[in-house]
Amino acid sequence: MASVSGTETILSPLQRSGLNKKGLCDYVVNVASGCLHGCTFCYVPSTPTIRTRQEHFRTSGVNDPQMDWGDYLLLRDKLPEKLEEQLNRKRTWKETEAGKGVVLLCSGTDPYQNNRVAKITRQSVKILLKSQKRIRILTRSPLWLKDLDVLMDRNVTIGMSLPHLDDQLSRQIEPHAPLPSDRLKALYMGKKSGCRLYVAIAPTVPQMGKKDFLEYLGKILPLEPEVIFWEPINARGSNGKRMLSAGLSFAASVMSHKDWAENFLKQWNAIEEAAAELGCLDILHIWPDPALNKYISSDRLETWFYRPTVEVW
Ligand code: SF4
Repeated sequence: MASVSGTETILSPLQRSGLNKKGLCDYVVNVASGCLHGCTFCYVPSTPTIRTRQEHFRTSGVNDPQMDWGDYLLLRDKLPEKLEEQLNRKRTWKETEAGKGVVLLCSGTDPYQNNRVAKITRQSVKILLKSQKRIRILTRSPLWLKDLDVLMDRNVTIGMSLPHLDDQLSRQIEPHAPLPSDRLKALYMGKKSGCRLYVAIAPTVPQMGKKDFLEYLGKILPLEPEVIFWEPINARGSNGKRMLSAGLSFAASVMSHKDWAENFLKQWNAIEEAAAELGCLDILHIWPDPALNKYISSDRLETWFYRPTVEVW
């Protein structure tokens, strides 16, 4: 499919979010539908936001919004203006223990994937800051460095998704995202500027073991991230099919429920051991999956759901 770009209309840019379950936020603002990074493992095309709007995407020229993920981007029309109106009307603000009232940009797209998207993100952040809201940026692109004048604020934390530090592997699994080495450099520049930072080691490929986690953590700890999130790759459902069709043979090893769970637990133990050895277990925040319930004790699983991060706002 040729790339589709356009706009779409939404009424309320600020949405309540269930991502407090992962310690991420209580609200999200998604500045677009679709994402040009087109990561092969991306779970977003399997979410209701995409699955339940097939007709909407078809009328915009996207025939198969799941399998064509990465080939379309619909910017949300007048989003900053609508966000400002919505905030002005809003009388209550939800602040859960784990979500801390934070607004995440973005959960369903990359807020800095290109200059057009970055412009909307910048305007949205300024509006949220004017209303004294807490903001979590999550991106794979170093473009946020252009917005340091806005993002260097006590109410903003910037996170980069950095599942590994292997540029070659990255071209296979997240072919259109900036290279991991460039993401790491961006984080170091943010650190030098005094930004609040976090890292999402997500999602890790099954071949990563304790030695890899030791090496990886050793490279990001000098950044002094306030929190390090972790989850492994999920190849169940359409993600697995997209990874296999991209030639990622390792996906076959974690496509069954049992294989996925066994790998999850193996990597969970490995990253915890590595973090303990390096003295950063306190900032490691696991993103477990409820479907692990047959494989581990409910205590170990549930301790991570709705758990506040160690970040201090
Ligand atoms: S950057 Fe994030 S939203 Fe975009 S394709 Fe990759 S995982 Fe999905």
